[in-house]
Amino acid sequence: MTQNKNFRTADPLGIQRVVKPKGVLPQQAETIDASLPIAEDELLIEVESLNIDSASFHQISEACGKDVARMEKHILDLVANRGKHHNPVTGSGGMLIGKVVQVGPHFPVKEKPVREGDRIATLVSLSLTPLQIRKIKKINPNIDRVDIEGHAILFASGIFAKLPEDMPETVALAVLDVAGAPAQTRQLVQPGQTVVVVGGGGKSGILCLYEAKKKAGVRTVAIDYSQSAIDRLAQLPFVDEVIQADARNAVEVMEKVWAATKGHMGDVVINVANIPETEMSCVLSCAPKGIVYFFSMATSFTRAALGAEGVGADVDLRIGNGYTEGHADLALDLIRESEELRQIFTEQYV
Ligand code: NAP
Repeated sequence: MTQNKNFRTADPLGIQRVVKPKGVLPQQAETIDASLPIAEDELLIEVESLNIDSASFHQISEACGKDVARMEKHILDLVANRGKHHNPVTGSGGMLIGKVVQVGPHFPVKEKPVREGDRIATLVSLSLTPLQIRKIKKINPNIDRVDIEGHAILFASGIFAKLPEDMPETVALAVLDVAGAPAQTRQLVQPGQTVVVVGGGGKSGILCLYEAKKKAGVRTVAIDYSQSAIDRLAQLPFVDEVIQADARNAVEVMEKVWAATKGHMGDVVINVANIPETEMSCVLSCAPKGIVYFFSMATSFTRAALGAEGVGADVDLRIGNGYTEGHADLALDLIRESEELRQIFTEQYV
């Protein structure tokens, strides 16, 4: 990669990179400018892999008829047009891993220590990260990962994690993408509660189930669709009940959760499904005054809010923030402490 030693002026939020419409933040923008040189306070990253947000990857895969060649063109066009991997249908992005190749002289290294040559994962969404792809090397359709050659830029306000040396980088990438989910599970779940995880067989689902079960007396219920996910969940000692159901079928899910919890339902219901129209199965699976936590990027605010009102469900609807203080270390530590998690993530994501 050619590097220009001249820098743009410092701009911690990356506003000067917004092309269209002017005056908005990079995440809201339709198009941003990912060209070099970097600004005085930016980081330049040579990217190796993108972990596309699961809801976004699923949508792209469906739109391209699951054809990898069409997906490749779709992703290249998307990034060429927008200057970022920001799926206009789901609104979501993902994150990336790569090597830092240039540190702007005013990047805040005191608060965020980093050097050229460090290997990092970005913890801000690809939906606001300037990105240019020179070449797609491989699409890994089962794990939402796209290996590329290209560069990305991190603003001074952006956050990142140095890649750990005690696990494969692709495992760390998969875990860090969803690190907010187990971190917020730790805050939401209280001892003795029943926790229902919809889409529980996926990355964030398994991490949430494990984290929830660490609290004394918690009962965990996992709901998933495919037989492979059900088989995986059935072997996990931290999952008490496994339910096979389509989360788009709210009544079926409610009845099965009723049976599994003897009518108690979930004190906390966590939605980590990667498809749309799963809001109401979560609302109907939640006990009165309980919490429904929507981490899924396919969540519709309207469907959740009007749906809950429509069935008279007095439940607390929460939006899943991708960031919680300390979330990266917390999620990586779960992989370190659990043999089962380490095995599942290593088998699937290396
Ligand atoms: P994942 O590994 O793909 O897991 C999604 C799970 O949902 C899979 O086990 C999938 O099962 C299951 N599922 C799909 N269709 C279903 C259905 N009809 N009924 C029941 N279960 C179904 O995804 P992830 O990486 O954990 O991400 C989970 C969600 O979090 C996604 O929506 C993602 O976009 C979102 N996310 C949010 C943030 C945030 O900041 N809030 C950050 C990252 C990701 P199958 O194997 O059967 O398909």
